[in-house]
Amino acid sequence: MLEIAGLTAHYGLVRALSDVTLKVEEGSITAILGANGAGKTTLLRVVSGLVRPSSGRITAFGEDVTALSTDRIARFGIAHVPEGGGVIPELTVEENLRLGALWRKDKADRGAALAEVLELFPPLVPRRAKAAGTLSGGERQMLAIGRGLMGRPRMLLLDEPSLGLAPLVAAKIMAVLRDLRAATGLTVLLVEQNARSALSISDHGFVLGLGAVVASDDADTLLADDQLRHAYLGF
Ligand code: ATP
Repeated sequence: MLEIAGLTAHYGLVRALSDVTLKVEEGSITAILGANGAGKTTLLRVVSGLVRPSSGRITAFGEDVTALSTDRIARFGIAHVPEGGGVIPELTVEENLRLGALWRKDKADRGAALAEVLELFPPLVPRRAKAAGTLSGGERQMLAIGRGLMGRPRMLLLDEPSLGLAPLVAAKIMAVLRDLRAATGLTVLLVEQNARSALSISDHGFVLGLGAVVASDDADTLLADDQLRHAYLGF
């Protein structure tokens, strides 16, 4: 469903990604792990067209999307939920959600998507008319994911959804993602510093170190690899 081949990306002279090759299977949850500055966020930004690669190729759903603009990539079915969620605190929960589907022409289906997202995230229902800035961290992350789902993507790129959340709340967000995939077959590319928690719901994981893939395997195998865990995953 998503294939990345020989991807290299720079910020000026800084090389953030170095010859990254990876594959994300349709309907899978794939974790991208690694320490601060390993290149995880950059990888998502390149896939969604925010950062142009210096070389390499990205193929999604069988088509070359390497040079597409961010809006074309969103229309193509790839939704990016950035670190921190990127919700607009002054707008209400419902207004934030509606923003996620603004570009879609089918008005009736936009209404249906809103109902589905609210059903997926019951804590948002009583907050629907409240400013997003009044939400707790966990609710705000649900809102960010919900906004991404409003465009009915085929694939969700999620950047550190558990960042800054209490462990119990982070676990709830992971459970929501696991259930969402089980219910809809959505493909998820999940960037996380919390490797243990990400691998607990993932099928496969890639570990980045200084911009390069240093390991990739089934999630269970990565979890069981003591040397790798100590060297790259911090637990
Ligand atoms: P974190 O968990 O801290 O977000 P990360 O694994 O997501 O880390 P990136 O944010 O992708 O890593 O950063 C990869 C490298 O690129 C780092 O060396 C970082 O300092 C550098 N970098 C990231 N963004 C920029 C930028 N806008 N300008 C210059 N260098 C950048």
